[in-house]
Amino acid sequence: MITIVESPNPLLNQVCDPCDLADRELRRLAKSMVKAMYKNGGCGLAAPQVGVSKRLVVIDCDQDDSGEQNPIVMVNPVIVETSGEVVTEEEGCLSIPGISVPIARPEYARARFFDLDGEEWEIEGDGLLGRCLQHECDHLDGITMFERCTPQARLQALADYEQAQAAGAKPGDTSVS
Ligand SMILES: [Zn+2]
Repeated sequence: MITIVESPNPLLNQVCDPCDLADRELRRLAKSMVKAMYKNGGCGLAAPQVGVSKRLVVIDCDQDDSGEQNPIVMVNPVIVETSGEVVTEEEGCLSIPGISVPIARPEYARARFFDLDGEEWEIEGDGLLGRCLQHECDHLDGITMFERCTPQARLQALADYEQAQAAGAKPGDTSVS
């Protein structure tokens, strides 16, 4: 079972390498990332979060109580458009357990990516999906919530994170009581 890389870790601040679509390992990596995403209750996971510095993301923003799983594997995803109002909302991250951080992002995003068979796709959305696409693609450029929020929110987030770590926060926790 793969483990989630937790901040601070230099892996989370590296610009990831493009995936080679002929790489047979990608399929296995994607599979274990999907598993890890659901196991930890996330709606997205990027390869650097499991210790692999490659441009690979898995997301599922349609999870409900039915238990139905529709993960999307995104190889070499690129945000090609963002638009709409810039909205600030609390985000969580499996690599920064125990806290949530207010992050301002355009509400709509469109991303282009390849599937594991090398076919090119586009996905677009606002709300959770739009936010998740931007959050996960940030990971591929070494940008975590700490780098994406305002300097003021960053100070608060770092202080909260220190407390959360001391309290033993686990990936998937967005608050520690
Ligand atoms: Zn994250």
